[in-house]
Amino acid sequence: MNSAAIDTEINAGLDISKIRTEFPMLQKKINGKPIIYLDSAATGQKPKRVIDRLYQFYMTEYGKPKESHTLGRHATEEVENTRKKVAAFLGAGSEKEIVFSRGCTESINMVAGGFERGLLNTGDEILITALEHHANIVPWQLACQQTGAKLKVVPINGKGEVDMNFFEEALSSKTKIVAVAHTSHALGNKLPVKEMIGLAHKKGIPVMVDGAQAAPHMKVNLKELDCEFYTFSGHKMGSPSGVGVLYGKKEYLDMLPPYEGGADMATEVAFNGPVIAEPPAKFEAGTSPFAEIIAFGTLIDYLNEIDMEKTEIYEQQLLSYATRQISKIDRVVIKGEAPEKEPVLSFLMEGMDVKKLEKFLNDEYNIDVKAGDLTAQPLMKILGVPGLLRASLCYYNTREEIDIFVGAVEEFIKMKH
Ligand code: PMP
Repeated sequence: MNSAAIDTEINAGLDISKIRTEFPMLQKKINGKPIIYLDSAATGQKPKRVIDRLYQFYMTEYGKPKESHTLGRHATEEVENTRKKVAAFLGAGSEKEIVFSRGCTESINMVAGGFERGLLNTGDEILITALEHHANIVPWQLACQQTGAKLKVVPINGKGEVDMNFFEEALSSKTKIVAVAHTSHALGNKLPVKEMIGLAHKKGIPVMVDGAQAAPHMKVNLKELDCEFYTFSGHKMGSPSGVGVLYGKKEYLDMLPPYEGGADMATEVAFNGPVIAEPPAKFEAGTSPFAEIIAFGTLIDYLNEIDMEKTEIYEQQLLSYATRQISKIDRVVIKGEAPEKEPVLSFLMEGMDVKKLEKFLNDEYNIDVKAGDLTAQPLMKILGVPGLLRASLCYYNTREEIDIFVGAVEEFIKMKH
């Protein structure tokens, strides 16, 4: 067997060198050195064909969807094609359950804002977990402030695992919705969302899953999950920025009040009131980021082509390798050691400032990581740390990049910062 074949076997059947050639940013050098991009949990790099699709649309096809002319009809068709691709990608029942937003944050606000305006009353409860991103905390807090509902928080243990006994006991007739991350952006652990959804459903409680960190790394199957809402951003998966998805079961999208008022979310408008459109149009007021949505469709094709079952296996191999290598360093304390994790590695350095390490890695090695509170200030308080350093991996990363990263961390320690 030649070395390329061995390489492919180790890498879950993926030709990583070839995949890397598809990503222009991975070819870029700063000060003569390549970029080592370990910040995919913040945003994913884009395959060239996605950028090309955006460029081609702007250069040769540009027109606004829903206009009657040729360009408008073409744009409408392309947007609706992406909607169909997203529905199939997620295993949704129908493309009518796919709402385009400007990102996961907006998708969560559509749900929280809808509950605030029509479905919450004083004394009601919303259940979240202690490891949520600010995007899945603050919208619910705002809804509570307006309605007198209460936010209940399910605690986690030292490994970052959710206290399932607390969760089960907290579900009551007062609980109006459960809103939980599919996987943690800060610690990487997968939450037992299937079990949580099952327990909530036993009491007739709907569940919203924040899939911002899961959708880029695993094959999501909404038929199996059976949650009422699922949210994520395209940019973390490799699409242009400014596109997000809210999946909602038909009866829940029917129940939820519209998010914004404006064009296209109403079928008739008179001064005595509008006639609200059927979902998904009901939630898509005004001009959408249609060019980005169209290029998002190209990304879905790409992910289907490289096969997310393979990328998941490879990313898990990378995570195990990175965890093993970084654990050899004395001062490193990994946070979030649950057995089931996304390719996210977060740690602190005893007696050292992770912000200084972040800067060192970037200045000296072009290594991009994220350090600080990781947009999870309540979680940092629970962990009793000011911040963590997070290296987040993707299928376009390599073991060689991890070796350089680990070597650079060792060098930083030797410099006695
Ligand atoms: N939820 C989680 C778990 C996230 O990691 C993020 C982004 N870091 C968001 C929500 C918000 O995503 P966006 O900023 O793309 O709206």
